Amino acid sequence: MSEPGLPKPTQNQREFPIAIIGAGFAGIGTAIQLRKSGINSFTIFERADEIGGTWRDNTYPGCACDVPSHVYSFSFEPNPNWSRAFAEAGEIQAYLMGLVDKWKLRPHLRLNTEIVEARFDEDAGTWALTTDDDAVFRARVVVSGVGGLVDPALPDIKGIHSFGGELFHTARWNHDFDITGKRVGVIGTGASAVQVVPSIAPQVEQLSVFQRSAAWVMPKRDHRYSEDTKQRLARFPVLLRLSRLAKYWLSELMGPMVFLDAPRLSGLAQKMSLAHLRASVDDPALREKLTPDFQFGCKRILISDDYWASFERDNVDLVTEPIEEIMPEGVLTRDGTLHELDALVLATGFALGLANAPFPIFGLGGRSLDDSWQEGAVAYKGMSVAGFPNWFILMGPNTGPGHTSVLVFTEAQIQHVMQAIRKIRRDGLKYVSVQQQAQDDYNEKIQKRMKYMVWSSGCHSWYLSDDGSNHSLYPGFAAEYVARAQRFNPADYDRVRS
Ligand code: NAP
Repeated sequence: MSEPGLPKPTQNQREFPIAIIGAGFAGIGTAIQLRKSGINSFTIFERADEIGGTWRDNTYPGCACDVPSHVYSFSFEPNPNWSRAFAEAGEIQAYLMGLVDKWKLRPHLRLNTEIVEARFDEDAGTWALTTDDDAVFRARVVVSGVGGLVDPALPDIKGIHSFGGELFHTARWNHDFDITGKRVGVIGTGASAVQVVPSIAPQVEQLSVFQRSAAWVMPKRDHRYSEDTKQRLARFPVLLRLSRLAKYWLSELMGPMVFLDAPRLSGLAQKMSLAHLRASVDDPALREKLTPDFQFGCKRILISDDYWASFERDNVDLVTEPIEEIMPEGVLTRDGTLHELDALVLATGFALGLANAPFPIFGLGGRSLDDSWQEGAVAYKGMSVAGFPNWFILMGPNTGPGHTSVLVFTEAQIQHVMQAIRKIRRDGLKYVSVQQQAQDDYNEKIQKRMKYMVWSSGCHSWYLSDDGSNHSLYPGFAAEYVARAQRFNPADYDRVRS
């Protein structure tokens, strides 16, 4: 085993090594804040060959943000040049790449480097991170920004590997395969499917959308920003800030409709969605099939102007018969129909990475994170786990929003981590470790609230674990989370001196 790369922790602790795992929004945002604080002893580990996370991996036709771009970008790196209200994936990736260049983060990046194990050395107060090529890096603080929706989930459908045509997942789009004039099937009707379907419908000969559950869809009202608007936003940054604030507070205002188990409130949103359905689809029988049978908000709300309208096209079929089997020629449904296909797109979502440790992580006393999370993933304010000192998770348990930009949460977490790092540096601490009691109290409150939330009201979604518990979403307003989480409170942590 070699130990190249990171400097050894210094005597005075001032410039100790910091490891960031993952070069998506969370990792890049943390790196920028470290740079701004004059801290340069950090390394970003990324298993892929480029930065970007979600926005590197998802390149399917139509892939775009479903949160307005002025909110889905860092408040500390506002972008007046977004070309449209909801930027496409390539533009978001370009934004992140631009930040890497602007903040000169390239020298800090270790691409193609996967961390496969992490082990805390209590005497040294450092984490030993082992990479896939058996190198070991030592860091005093680790910021894990590995994301929760990363690895494609393949559906457990009989015969899936026997398909004779092209088969790929939305997050692994095969751009070498030309879908023009082909018979294409899409399995799934989630956030990825609603973007793919209208984008490829005009291009393919025949599109069959296999729907297991209908989804609530709201109008997106996407539009391009004119050159005038972009110039005005660039010239008057206060306008950009106001635009961001207005969009953010609108989403918060609508929040209770989306996250509370309050049928009267969500009923208003349901009415809006049904009006959108009526405006998009004439045929009442088709509308019936596209109408969800669960409460608005129970699954992630989809945002699209043209998804429902796609089914009005002659070459697009909505298949609601359950899938029996995938055969070499296509998809066989339970009514005995064989839907012959040249390509099958799996818009079937992701294996939820939040439920388990992303790789074996061993904290104090050699205890593994998976062991600590046997009854579900929990973390104090979604970031710190008792027994795992100086390890901070971004976008961790119970920090996902159902109604607004995830980056509002991420920015608060980055602030918390920055304050923790400053505290460790200032006081020459070996480590800080969240107290079990603080973690338990916090999570008790979070889980108590869950019974008022819509997510357990009778639908099946990635939000819920197998036992029906919710360790994914934050049950409340983002503003409230920010107020709780952005400050690092040393009193909630054991502080161990060198
Ligand atoms: P998803 O929401 O988990 O949807 C997966 C779809 O596949 C569902 O419709 C599901 O049906 C269906 N499915 C899964 N297994 C199946 C099977 N065996 N047979 C038939 N159908 C099956 O996945 P996603 O659309 O990729 O979205 C995942 C998350 O990624 C979103 O919730 C969102 O957080 C994020 N995302 C964001 C954006 C954005 O614009 N920002 C875009 C895409 C994704 P059921 O509904 O019946 O389970």
